[in-house]
Amino acid sequence: MSDQTKKLYPESLMMSYGYKPELSEGAIKCPIFQTSTFTFKSAEEGKAFFEVAYGLREKKPNEELGLIYSRLNNPDLEILENRLTLWDGAEDCAVFESGMSAITTLLLEFLRPGDYVVYSAPVYGGTDHFINHVLPRYGINHIGFRAGTGNQEIRQRIEEAGALGKVALIYTETPANPTNALVDIAAMRQLADELGSEDKPVYVAVDNTYMGPLWSHPLQHGADFVLYSATKYIGGHSDVIAGACLGSKELIGRVKGLRTFIGNMAGPWTGWLLMRSLETLKARMELQAANATKVARFLAGHYKVAQVYYLGLLEPGHPQYDIYKRQYSSPGAMLSFEVKGGEAEAFRFLNSLKLIKLAVSLGSTESLAEHPKTMTHADVAEEDKQAIGITDNLVRLSVGVEHADDLIWDIGQALEQV
Ligand SMILES: *Cc1c(COP(=O)(O)O)cnc(C)c1O
Repeated sequence: MSDQTKKLYPESLMMSYGYKPELSEGAIKCPIFQTSTFTFKSAEEGKAFFEVAYGLREKKPNEELGLIYSRLNNPDLEILENRLTLWDGAEDCAVFESGMSAITTLLLEFLRPGDYVVYSAPVYGGTDHFINHVLPRYGINHIGFRAGTGNQEIRQRIEEAGALGKVALIYTETPANPTNALVDIAAMRQLADELGSEDKPVYVAVDNTYMGPLWSHPLQHGADFVLYSATKYIGGHSDVIAGACLGSKELIGRVKGLRTFIGNMAGPWTGWLLMRSLETLKARMELQAANATKVARFLAGHYKVAQVYYLGLLEPGHPQYDIYKRQYSSPGAMLSFEVKGGEAEAFRFLNSLKLIKLAVSLGSTESLAEHPKTMTHADVAEEDKQAIGITDNLVRLSVGVEHADDLIWDIGQALEQV
């Protein structure tokens, strides 16, 4: 790319970036390198590759780290990682066999016994479980706060817990699932800088799965890491589980180091599927967001709907409006709404849908509906559910690429059954 004078947009590079057809018989697409190991041209070359891979010496300028073994590197993985960096403007990326493995590998690499992780609650169920039930077994503590809590109050809670000087990571999910509550990433950066020191930096990690990689770039707002469940928008077709973690070369180097020893890297088949998905990421997501905007407007005007949570409906003066405008360039394709009534009415709606599928997960080509209180968020403490708006009558929608009129027809007829 060095002789390129025009900087191309990520969507223009998704079909080619990082792949050299001449290394693969001219194949226009990167083949699936379904191989566990790679032959070295000579013993000297094998030695040189291992020296660099195991950090026994620094890589020389212009030296390429050759392929060794598919737990360390594989073309389908490396090319996918290079392409993913383009959306977030990250230096490096590590891909995993699930979003959870990306998240847990990050947490294990940057937290030590005695450390605290400060996190916006509730986060994704699997992450919440890992922070609350697995990390404590290794002596790693946690302090939760809700989206919208000011830095002063978070700091006070850290002091009260006796955790000053022990915080190692601030972990947030924004927009939060399922009500699109926002966390101010720049404020998290500021808090991290106040809490950290030269010898004990405090890192900021943002799970950006709910918005996806197009319209929000947490690294530009001061985050050290951005995480994705690539199962969602990036994969986008409800046919693969995968994850990614992005950040600086140095920090992702540490994540990749631990990944090598846990062995939870994505396989070549997953890498190939995600590269295929990335080619249409922007086209899919733009249509999904346009559909979601139409669906949200329809819901907001419907007499059987009590409340709609969609970023596109925020108005100037709303407490989260400024964060929304600063951090996001689209309202995205995730929304939730309250059907008038309770659980019975919400279930009646869900059971009456004809086109939209009743399933968890999100960000896919097909529209999905679910009931957060008894499904994705069943595990969240009752008082937290109340506080963050996970009510009996709340339904979450992930809007897909179908014709907007058909989605609106389906939602309308299901509401009539309520
Ligand atoms: C789905 C999801 C995860 C977990 O990802 P998997 O690919 O299922 O392991 C993490 N965070 C968020 C916000 C998610 O939606």
